[in-house]
Formats: sequence, structure tokens, C-alpha cells
Amino acid sequence: MEDKTTNFTYISLANKYRPQKFEDMVGQESISKTLQNALKSGRLAHAYLFYGPRGCGKTTTARILAKALNCTGHTDNKPTAEPCGKCPQCLEIAQSADLDVLELDAASNTQVEKVREAIIDTVALAASRDRFKVFILDEVHMLSASSFNALLKTIEEPPAHVVFILATTEKHKVPATIVSRCQTFRFRPLTTEEITTHLLDLSGAENIDLTPAAAKIIAKNAGGAMRDALTLLDRAIAFCGGKIDEKTVADMLGLTPDELLKQALGALVQKDNQALHQVFQTIQAEGFDANSFLKDLKNTLGESFYFVLGQGDAPFAGAKDVLDGVSPGFLAQLSRKINKLCEEVKFSDNALISAEVGLFTVMDSCLDISGLISRLEALERGESLPPATPRARGPVSTDKPASRPAETTARKKQTLRHLRP
Ligand SMILES: [Zn+2]
Repeated sequence: MEDKTTNFTYISLANKYRPQKFEDMVGQESISKTLQNALKSGRLAHAYLFYGPRGCGKTTTARILAKALNCTGHTDNKPTAEPCGKCPQCLEIAQSADLDVLELDAASNTQVEKVREAIIDTVALAASRDRFKVFILDEVHMLSASSFNALLKTIEEPPAHVVFILATTEKHKVPATIVSRCQTFRFRPLTTEEITTHLLDLSGAENIDLTPAAAKIIAKNAGGAMRDALTLLDRAIAFCGGKIDEKTVADMLGLTPDELLKQALGALVQKDNQALHQVFQTIQAEGFDANSFLKDLKNTLGESFYFVLGQGDAPFAGAKDVLDGVSPGFLAQLSRKINKLCEEVKFSDNALISAEVGLFTVMDSCLDISGLISRLEALERGESLPPATPRARGPVSTDKPASRPAETTARKKQTLRHLRP
């Protein structure tokens, strides 16, 4: 293997580890299997539509399929389910240099018109060398109406030597007339576990000391896209060299430490003004970004929601204690309001103050209805009232937003009245 430290042109991990065979595709096993079966049995379609979120393998699969159709590494001179990776066709397609495999990105303005010309002018011509002329049209939903018309005419009566592979993140924007003539495959986002495993495998091959916890953080922040995960790993290598642990990745991504999120969530659940203010003092003292904090808090609330439903892992150590007795509905309310708050704070000229004031308002306006109902039912049964959720503990000493106990208590009473059947 080439030593990358002596090589000025560093090859990104996403390029270096781009899958070259169907077996290498992570997370899209059923698609790989179906395509391989079709290749083995010779039941090939003239148009394929790959759709799904970005970065989960559509273009890569399209290239592997193009190789499979044109590979000359096997003796039988037919499409193969296992492209050899060594013949001129396989090598050139891997580098996007095969003249008979046209890759066009409809998202790029300069190529939109080229697509129409390419389809009209070259489709009828025989492949110059390869078995098939393959058109890979990325982000196909961006094509102009005239390009779609040209495409439609061609896939209605496709020449025998032409295969179209269309890829899109927005299938609903592709005309139904086109979709109905394609064999469609839905690519799903990869799970955090799939990405984590892949990152750990790859760091072994690259001699990088990546801890499982760090890999998991990267995977979670990649949003289901392997390409994004590999880009983040590239950044982490540049940021902290060959040893990558949880803390360095969190620093690199500007993530809020779990401990602080735990404090914030605890304060919101307990409606504890002072604790919430303390969280913001830490944010200010440590120089954390208020926008990132809100985003992380929103994600933690989402994870807590699933955790409380019994559907996911604990979002942080000690979550069980913090979330004890909290209803999923209450967490959903908080999450929705904080989501809105994220948007507001983004455009604020003082993010820290806006975030703090906003979060106090959110805390004040969210009510745990399920909790209130059970308290109300207990009252109606004549039972003594279970201990109330700790409420505002009085104003804090500074001039920061203070609690309004009288008002919140009044509102709670009002809600109780309102809930009474
Ligand atoms: Zn080959």
C-alpha cells in the first residue's frame, strides 16, 4: 500500500474505499442481491431508477452495475454478477473514464442541456467498444422538461445496447411516465451500527487508532450517509492524527458534552430555573456554541423520546434517573418547541441570550399532560396528592430571566380545571 504521508495528493477515504463490487456495498444487500440475480439470469432492464437519501450508495451501485454489464474479465463474454475489477472496462468505469459509460449530473447547470443532447445524439449510435452504452444520470429529477421528453422517447423504445441508470434523491419529482418504465430500487439510509462497524473495519486497515465510542459519534453525525461519515473521519484524522477518541471527535464536531445535556434535560423536566441558568453559565464559560447546544439538546430529546417508549438506547449515562416518570408526550412537546427555537436563534444577533430566554419560555409553556391527568385522577379518587414535580425554585440571584411561580401555578390550576371532564 502506498504511504500517504509521502504522497502529496491525499486520496480521501470516501474515494479510496468506494465499493468496487456488489459484495462491498454496505447496507444495501437486497438491492445487490436482486441486481446480481438479474445479471446471472440475463433478465436485464433497459432503465433502472435508484432513489433514496444522499450518500447511501446510488451512484456507486450504478457504477458497479455498469461494470457488471461491460466487464470483459470473464471468458463467457456476457454480463457478469461479479465484475473482475481488472479489465480495461472495470478500471475505466472506476475512474469515470469509459467512453461508453456516460455519467451526467443533472444538478449541474452546465450539464442539464448536455443530457438532452447526449440522449438524442448518442443513444442511437452503437457502443464504441463496450457491450452496452450505459447512461448514468445523477439527480435526474433536475432535468429540464425537454430532457425528460427526450429521455421518455428513448426509454419507451430503447435500443438493445442501451441501459439507463437514473439516480435521484427526490423520486416524487420524476415524472410518473418515466418512473413507470424503470425498474425501481429504494436505497435506505444506513444505520448508525452499520456505519460504526464499517468505520472500525476501515480504521483497522488504515492503521488508525479509532475508539468504538468515537466511531459511534461520527456515525451518528453522518445522518445515514456513509460518504459523510468517511469525510468526517478524514477530518478527524487531520484534526487529531492517528489516535481518535470520543473527546477529540466531540471537540472537532463542536458537540455539547453529554453531562451538560443531561443537566439541561434534567432542568427542563424538573422545571428548575436555577439549574437551567447554570447550564447557560457553563455554555458561556466554556465557549460552547449556543446553536450547536440547542441542536444537540433537540437530538437528545429525540433519543430520550424513543428511550422512554422503550425503543432505543439510553441517550446518555444516567438517563434512566433523569427521565424517570416523564411521559413521551411531554418530551415530544419539548422537542417540537426546541426545534422551532433552533430556527429563531439561528437568526438572532445574540445567540446565547436568545437561546436562554427561549428555553425558559419553552420550559414554562410545556406541561406534562399525562402527569397532570394522573394527578387529577388521584385527586378525584380522594387520594392525597402525590408529590408534585419540583417546580421553579425561586428567582436566581442575577438579572437573568426569573421564574414566575404565581403565574405558572395559576396556569396549572387552570389546566387542571380544563382537563376535568
Ligand atoms: Zn472487468
